[in-house]
Amino acid sequence: MEERYNPELVEPKWQAYWKENQLFKVTEDPSKEKYYLLEMFPYPSGKIHIGHVRNYTIGDVVVRYKRMKGFNVLHPMGWDAFGMPAENAAIDNNTHPAAWTYSNISAMRAQLKKMGFSYDWDREIATCRPEYYKWEQWLFLKMLEKGMAYRKESYVNWCEKCQTVLANEQVEQDKCWRCSRPVQQKKLWQWFFKITDYAQDLLVHCDQLPGWPDKVTVMQKNWIGRSVGSELKFKIHGRDEDLVVFTTRPDTVFGATFMCLAPEHPLVESLSKGTKTQDEVAAFVKKVSSQERSAEGIEKYEKEGVFTGAYCINPATLEKIPIYTANFVLMEYGTGAIMSVPAGDQRDFDFARKYGLEIRVVVQPEGEELDGNTMPEAFTGSGVMVNSGEFNGLDSTKAMDVMTDWLEEKGRGKKTVSYRLRDWGISRQRFWGAPIPVIHCPDCGVVPVPEADLPIRLPEDANLLEKGGSPLPTLDFFAKATCPACGRQDAKRDTDTMDTFVESSWYYLRYCSPRYEKGMFDPEAVKYWAPVDQYIGGVEHAVLHLLYSRYFMRVLHTLGMIDFKEPFTRLLTQGMVCKETMTCPDHGFLFPEEAVKNDDGKLVCTRCNSDVEVGRVIKMSKSKKNVVDPNELLEKYGADVTRLFSLFAAPPERDLEWNEDGVEGSNRFVNRVWRFVLEWLEKIDGIEPFNGSACDLASKQAKDLYIKANQTIKKVTEDIDKSFHFNTAISAVMELVNDLYAIDPDCVDDEVKKVILFSIENILLLLSPIIPHFCEELYEKLGKTGSILEQPWPEYRKDSLETDEVLVIVQVNGKLRSKFKIGSDTEDAVVKETALADEKIKKYMGDKQPKKIIVIKKKQTLVNIVI
Ligand SMILES: [Zn+2]
Ligand SMILES: [Zn+2]
Ligand SMILES: [Zn+2]
Repeated sequence: MEERYNPELVEPKWQAYWKENQLFKVTEDPSKEKYYLLEMFPYPSGKIHIGHVRNYTIGDVVVRYKRMKGFNVLHPMGWDAFGMPAENAAIDNNTHPAAWTYSNISAMRAQLKKMGFSYDWDREIATCRPEYYKWEQWLFLKMLEKGMAYRKESYVNWCEKCQTVLANEQVEQDKCWRCSRPVQQKKLWQWFFKITDYAQDLLVHCDQLPGWPDKVTVMQKNWIGRSVGSELKFKIHGRDEDLVVFTTRPDTVFGATFMCLAPEHPLVESLSKGTKTQDEVAAFVKKVSSQERSAEGIEKYEKEGVFTGAYCINPATLEKIPIYTANFVLMEYGTGAIMSVPAGDQRDFDFARKYGLEIRVVVQPEGEELDGNTMPEAFTGSGVMVNSGEFNGLDSTKAMDVMTDWLEEKGRGKKTVSYRLRDWGISRQRFWGAPIPVIHCPDCGVVPVPEADLPIRLPEDANLLEKGGSPLPTLDFFAKATCPACGRQDAKRDTDTMDTFVESSWYYLRYCSPRYEKGMFDPEAVKYWAPVDQYIGGVEHAVLHLLYSRYFMRVLHTLGMIDFKEPFTRLLTQGMVCKETMTCPDHGFLFPEEAVKNDDGKLVCTRCNSDVEVGRVIKMSKSKKNVVDPNELLEKYGADVTRLFSLFAAPPERDLEWNEDGVEGSNRFVNRVWRFVLEWLEKIDGIEPFNGSACDLASKQAKDLYIKANQTIKKVTEDIDKSFHFNTAISAVMELVNDLYAIDPDCVDDEVKKVILFSIENILLLLSPIIPHFCEELYEKLGKTGSILEQPWPEYRKDSLETDEVLVIVQVNGKLRSKFKIGSDTEDAVVKETALADEKIKKYMGDKQPKKIIVIKKKQTLVNIVI
């Protein structure tokens, strides 16, 4: 008898069996209900990390469970294969990004197979393959044709020394990652997808995604950022031109004492031309161009600005107010111009104090008297209108509408809705991405590549440039093109590639028909499989990836290619995997194996023997070295124990704290089940499992065990089905195993043996999604043929869930003090005796004697002891 579960023998055996019998291969089968489960596909970095293990194990359990429940389940895997790390590795190792990527894919595929995940590998895709991105290029052309894609000038990070555009990841504290020179902002023509056309639709459907976590839909709503307000026009003094601003507080327009423009605003230069501050403005604009210009980025800098020398007219007061340019205004948001109301906005307030500008109170809070010269901070609430002409005395919340109407009559304003969401800039000046399929002709302008010429392939023999820029513009054989419209020989191909988020916005549809050659997907296959029923991935994708995917489905819906708009019916965002950090005073962060306990039980550094400081439990990361390598776990414990621990340690949506003792505990449990089954194999030989009703069982021992087993089936089924709470499901099975161990093998009759066999079979079925190799092996040892995965999920008997015990609630002087269970036909005298003998009750009674003991029998039994 094998004393212990040996994963090295068992796991490869069953992986080979599954493969040979194509157990994970699926095709459309209209006779069965479909279930499409997907985990977010990985970037092929070279190694799976523990977060992947957790993510994919969660998905795999649900998939195996659903299969046993009779669903036709699609569970594919692939690679989000374009992106920066491949370019960096190619530069460092003097290779091609493709070589690096494909070798990483092989390594990771092998690791995933070792974990026993039930993927239909025939459907594997890699987004860097031309067969994949061909269809993305095709969609780009469709979007271009329908006006859903357009080109405009926009800013990128630029290193003057390296003469290259830098991705955000290549900018380190405003400096170039290669040469440390300050990064500048440079204007380039770039492609955009008009996601803003769908802003309202994306927003309203956030409330129609009941299968999504609230935190994710809330983040999406905030990202879309709908605000209702007014568009107001401020005439530029001395010009026949208006500055348009968007404000959510039109009631404060009388308090607008100056105007601020983004430094990138096209009017900044012309407004300051010929004024005294012209040079100062130019210097300021140049300075800001080296600062990070994003909503988060601008928070890093002190708010500052310069007077442009020009004025505009406040449409309410008709006063001349100065126009500034300020670094906290972004061109991307609103109109790039804001009316500044220092009394009602803290940022404007600080700015006004700094530059000595007027602060005019227009909204007085109830029962207070604010003065612009002395108030310590802005007042942003509502109140009564003051200093606002005919509107004085009005409630400020009412003034919003009234004043907008008033300005509208004067042709100076209108009500409008504004969104924080911007169009999606998809041009990347990178090599390792899908080329944008257009040609630029000196005569014809932008000309789409003819569909027949797709895919526009990335060159396979390009050398990445040392300094990190894309080589595409320098490769004549790629960049030079003939104009498809007029035949000019000196046209140029667009040498930008698409944002890698484009690939991940539709890959889940490609899985439905991954080798389809006539389009992005086979419409029939998508009709059967899509949308994804359950999507699983990290909450860090709450906004971009998930929003872009929702947007892409709307695009395809508008193009008439699909009949749904929401790609993911249910979404699970799993928690992070965390571990404590360890630091040596000399060597900094230590890997777990670099700290050992010395003879005194103290944790010391293996290199210098210094005391190791154990830090907080935080997300595993390479830089903090608090990591666990899944390969080592696989070697030491095998796939099933690794799977079991990652599910048992925490419910999926919560963070999981890694600890070696927990893994050992999972290992012990697996071996406990192993030993039990092997010990009983002979004893139950020739016995049939019991499958009747509990009341047909003669002995209490058989009955109790049978009821416990049925309760366990019910609990595990509900925990997996309703909430994916595998940890409590596993606990329930552990309890049943404990009950089995409590049985004395030397004094059981055939009836009990029948129930033991029933329990063993069901334990294996219940655990098979979680520890599949292990369960297959024991199932085979029970003499079964075929795969346990092809068995139906166990059903519990409704008539065998209740024991005939009742709960007894014990009160002392009316207060609940203890509970216990007792047979339902127990006499009152025995119930009283048992209550008085209860340890907790004894403690409450002390040496007092009961004056009275009342027993009330209903559904439960109540004992009230009066002392
Ligand atoms: Zn540089
Ligand atoms: Zn042309
Ligand atoms: Zn050390």
